[in-house]
Amino acid sequence: MLNSKPVNRTFILLIIVVAVMLVLSLVALYTATETYFQGEGKTAVYYLTLSLLGIAISIYMLTASRGKTITVFEDQRLNTILQCEKCNFKSVREFRKGDYIFKRSDGCPKCKEKMVITAIYREVKEEEKEWKV
Ligand SMILES: [Zn+2]
Repeated sequence: MLNSKPVNRTFILLIIVVAVMLVLSLVALYTATETYFQGEGKTAVYYLTLSLLGIAISIYMLTASRGKTITVFEDQRLNTILQCEKCNFKSVREFRKGDYIFKRSDGCPKCKEKMVITAIYREVKEEEKEWKV
């Protein structure tokens, strides 16, 4: 169940985002010092706050990426299995918001009876399973 490639791909994207944010923060910091020397203390404080905020978010994103956050970006799909109680017809479809086990959901295509959700499972795409480090 180790998907290293999608994680790496997300990580590169994250690095780019963080790098852009850091550059913007440095620009803000530079603007802060410049406006400060121009005697505009209020504007300087504004830019300084902006800059510190940018740096803080960058650091937060980097540290958060080491934990659970990264799995959110992984290309996994949730599937819902439905079963008709009347004729035992089974069907699988993509998970929809509000789905839960034993909920009566879609109508049975055979007998029009409401089908019951019997399982919800996570699907990992084949191509990602095969990827190596
Ligand atoms: Zn049925």
